[in-house]
Amino acid sequence: MLDHYLVLSRKYRPKSLEDLIGEDVLAKSLRSCLDTRKVPHAFLFYGIRGVGKTTTARILSRCLNCLGSDGKTNVTSSPCGVCRSCIALDKDQHMDVMEVDAASRTGVDDIREIIEATQYAPILGRYKIFIIDEVHMLSKSAFNALLKTLEEPPGQAKFIFATTEVQKIPETIMSRCMTFQLKSVSFCAISEYLVEIAKREHLILDKDAADAIADESEGSVRDALSILEQAVMLSTESKNVTLDTVLSILGKARASDINSLLEYVLTAQTKKALAKADSMMQNGADPFVLYKSLQGALYKKIVDQVNGQCAECSLSNLLYLWQIFLKQTENMRETSYPEYVLNAAIVVLAHTSSFPNIEELMIKNPKTPESDDNFDKGGLNASTTQVNKSKQLIDDLLTKFPGASATDIE
Ligand SMILES: [Zn+2]
Repeated sequence: MLDHYLVLSRKYRPKSLEDLIGEDVLAKSLRSCLDTRKVPHAFLFYGIRGVGKTTTARILSRCLNCLGSDGKTNVTSSPCGVCRSCIALDKDQHMDVMEVDAASRTGVDDIREIIEATQYAPILGRYKIFIIDEVHMLSKSAFNALLKTLEEPPGQAKFIFATTEVQKIPETIMSRCMTFQLKSVSFCAISEYLVEIAKREHLILDKDAADAIADESEGSVRDALSILEQAVMLSTESKNVTLDTVLSILGKARASDINSLLEYVLTAQTKKALAKADSMMQNGADPFVLYKSLQGALYKKIVDQVNGQCAECSLSNLLYLWQIFLKQTENMRETSYPEYVLNAAIVVLAHTSSFPNIEELMIKNPKTPESDDNFDKGGLNASTTQVNKSKQLIDDLLTKFPGASATDIE
């Protein structure tokens, strides 16, 4: 199966603009500037990690240096893949394409070395191309040295910068680059892509397994392929990648199990909740991932309540549980015993769920005296202050729920 691991990570690396997933605008813009021969001397690709900045830089290098099968082609948006320049790039052995990681080479001397190299004529391709990854890591003096070259670049030199932190790039550099933002790929596009890759690899990838990988990859095709590779390795015999295999790799539990656990918590069934969490961990769920999943399920519940789709739950109680989750998150991160902290959190949450909610108390006892302390202890007495506190919590959360307002609960 080692072959599969290598094959999947190398075999499906995009080699042309057409291969880029979910980047139609970027591909169209690059194709346009290549086909019209209006190629700037510097490009800047930015976006979160794993969205294909370096891959796009390599594809652009291919387009700029492809010589065509006849050896006479000009710059092209459709590199031939067979000329010596394309082949050298496939092997990561192109003498005119230099990849630099600015995270490890941040100094002015490193940049001077690059600037000196721009003076030499290309050997194999058409241009000397310098791909500088994580360019925001360059020192101020390194940027200044680079700026002089960008102002008057040698005709044979092209720069392609990539960064995750575009706000750290000096405006003087930005203004001399053609700039593109690479967006994270949509959940659906990644899921469909994984199914397609599985077909090509003669694997059976269950739809819910593909969805679970897409969900975890958060818009990064590279991360998605990496998870699929691991799942394939665990599915050696059957060649069938199932949801359970993927979940075991991710340390996750099934959504239905998470929802059951949340229901036990919300209905104050502490023993059942603990037993459920224990069985999920026995089946491979990671306690911290489980905690985050449970928090995610609660978040969805709050959204449903605000949208009027969860009448059986009290919004104030849900928000109170949310606050407990937030407070426990730090403990979960720092502890050496996440299982204990998770169980303790479940007990606290389920116990809190057994308290009467503010709305009920307001109806039963509208003139209860002011008492701030009781709100923090679970809301045994309702008061104007308590309701105001509740509204404040809601207002804090409303930024995440566009279209609703605190008055919805009045
Ligand atoms: Zn070529």
